[in-house]
Amino acid sequence: MRAAVYHGARDLRLEDVPDAPAPAPGEARIQVRRCGVCGTDAHEYAHGPALVPLHAEHPGSKHSGPTILGHEFTGVVEAVGDSAGRFAVGDRVVAGAGSWCGTCSRCRAGRTNLCETYFTFGLQTHGGLAEFVTVPERMCHRVPTSSTTPRRCWPSRWRSRSTRSTGAGRSRATRSS
Ligand SMILES: [Zn+2]
Ligand SMILES: [Zn+2]
Repeated sequence: MRAAVYHGARDLRLEDVPDAPAPAPGEARIQVRRCGVCGTDAHEYAHGPALVPLHAEHPGSKHSGPTILGHEFTGVVEAVGDSAGRFAVGDRVVAGAGSWCGTCSRCRAGRTNLCETYFTFGLQTHGGLAEFVTVPERMCHRVPTSSTTPRRCWPSRWRSRSTRSTGAGRSRATRSS
């Protein structure tokens, strides 16, 4: 599949890479329709690596090396690891991109954003600036049928941040397939 791979500061390459892995139970493979590019990505491109584990394995994701960016993406479920899961092939979803374990003390206290092994798809492991990305189903939300794809690239609290910083949040939605 085609993907935008981060190799270091000012070194982002459009490459042919192995397909996103087949989803395990509890995961879904998403065919990406839109992927945002936010200030974090811009900082990583201009001044990184700050968050991408280019040279050492990330303790949460276990990933290291060149990384497909993109942590604000929406698309269509292309495959599921478990037919009894939350989603079915063809469902439109938006992904939260942050992964948590669900079992550490912070997760059990409901503070999953402070999970001991928290990591973000598109920063600490491969993300959505690609044709496909495989993620946990629990980080995904269904997109209402009444909503158009570009308007649901990411929940509004993050979109408004992009809008303020650029004056045109919608222009930051990047077509990736
Ligand atoms: Zn962001
Ligand atoms: Zn946890």
